[in-house]
Amino acid sequence: TRFDRLPDKSATPNGLENFTLRTKWQKQGITYFIASFTSDLSQETQRQIIARALDVWRAQIPLEFTEVFSTGEADMVFGFGEGDHCALYQAASVTCPTADDAGFDGEGGVLAHCYFPPGSGGDAAGYCHFDDSESWTDDDTSTIEVRLLETAIHEFGHGLGLAHSDDPSATMFPSYDPVLPKTQLGGDDITGI
Ligand code: ZN
Repeated sequence: TRFDRLPDKSATPNGLENFTLRTKWQKQGITYFIASFTSDLSQETQRQIIARALDVWRAQIPLEFTEVFSTGEADMVFGFGEGDHCALYQAASVTCPTADDAGFDGEGGVLAHCYFPPGSGGDAAGYCHFDDSESWTDDDTSTIEVRLLETAIHEFGHGLGLAHSDDPSATMFPSYDPVLPKTQLGGDDITGI
């Protein structure tokens, strides 16, 4: 199981570090909108988990995150969807990508995806989508259902500009290990962000 389809870290040497930075936000106040929820958890629980995942990164960087309640006000738009989940793009007037490009694959496999910040994220920069075919849980140590907090931390790392790391202890490592929960950033994540 992988968090998303972004490629593994390239073999290009990157000094002594494992992380790769793509682009970063050019402002400190970032707004986000949760456009759709999963029915697996209460909306309040999902709000709390998303805020916690952002806070894990915020603790390391001079950004502030504020929830807003429309796409038009939002820098980052989050949501759950299945299959091509075109509605999540159309709601933001972004052309829906082809199914091969960004469609979700049902239970297991790919869990989510998130576009990089403006400059490398394209029309959907800062958008993070979660595959609603998964069984999402708020149990951060579950080895059966998919841990939403850990997945959100990984995806928001992309939304803040980090690509994949080849350090297995990093949250930006591309694989999701069902039996090895991660609940905090690794040293490589912190150096990267
Ligand atoms: Zn990823």
